[in-house]
Amino acid sequence: MKEDIYNRYALYLKEHYGQRVYKLPIHIAVSCPNRRNGSKGCSYCGEKGAGLERLSDAFSVEEQLKQTMGYIQKRYKAKKFIAYFQSFTNTYMPLEQFYEYMKQAVMENIVEIALSTRPDCIGRPYLEILKEISQKNHIEITVELGLQTANYHSLKKVGRGHTLAEYIEAALLVKQYGFHLCTHVILNLPWDTELDAIESAKLVSVMKSDFVKLHGLYIEKGTKMAEQYEKKEFEICSVEEYKKRVKLFLQYLSPDIWVQRILGRAPQEDTLFANWGQSWWKIRDEIEQEMKAEKSYQGKQFHYLGGSGVREFLV
Ligand code: SF4
Repeated sequence: MKEDIYNRYALYLKEHYGQRVYKLPIHIAVSCPNRRNGSKGCSYCGEKGAGLERLSDAFSVEEQLKQTMGYIQKRYKAKKFIAYFQSFTNTYMPLEQFYEYMKQAVMENIVEIALSTRPDCIGRPYLEILKEISQKNHIEITVELGLQTANYHSLKKVGRGHTLAEYIEAALLVKQYGFHLCTHVILNLPWDTELDAIESAKLVSVMKSDFVKLHGLYIEKGTKMAEQYEKKEFEICSVEEYKKRVKLFLQYLSPDIWVQRILGRAPQEDTLFANWGQSWWKIRDEIEQEMKAEKSYQGKQFHYLGGSGVREFLV
């Protein structure tokens, strides 16, 4: 980074691949181990499992890729693409099936496969498949892990079904295989504070996540969190507080990490709460303007590693 207030993913793609690269979302018929046995999973999880824009899983991976690729090629004259397995838990299936899906994503002009999953749903056998696909086809791999927060207690309260240990193990494994690691974080989970935003930034920095994706929590009707929200069992922090947390998060984030987004798009329909009723880009722009005005930037507070307590003896 170094000239901008934070490392923008779009710039990474351009530098890394030498041109603009577009993500093509894929939806496959998969669920999540956290939604088994009648459980609705994480208390904020809706029926789409975090995937907003997608084609139906009635289409094969190849058909989905061809459709969206054709459209984007025409519209933006794009040449390279990332096949993005986005919704639910894209490793929650038998190995043979996983292998089949991954093979289907190998197509001309696909330079990378990105897949999102849970920290407790990744292990060596799945990574071995990804390694084979990657090596045979010269395709890069990104594994996206939902951490959401470094606050153990909040993970428990929202029913994530995993703790920090699983995230740490999964992150170490993904890095061991030489794949890119992307970590998802929600900075406005109820019960979390600014301290949790800072700790989350520290944790993803220590784990050497290559990318981070920040999301705003939205509350979809029909979820457990919607019930709690209507019963006023918690409050969501203000947009001003969210902006403050993003700025803090970025200050504590390693300057080596690329930021995929600082606030996600949220559906307005079927939600009780989404991005404070504002458009995501307006909030993003305000955060960026404030950072500029405050002379704040990614990594400004990144001096807590490398034996910071004995630094005075090391200079
Ligand atoms: S891990 Fe993702 S898909 Fe699974 S229950 Fe939680 S939000 Fe839903």
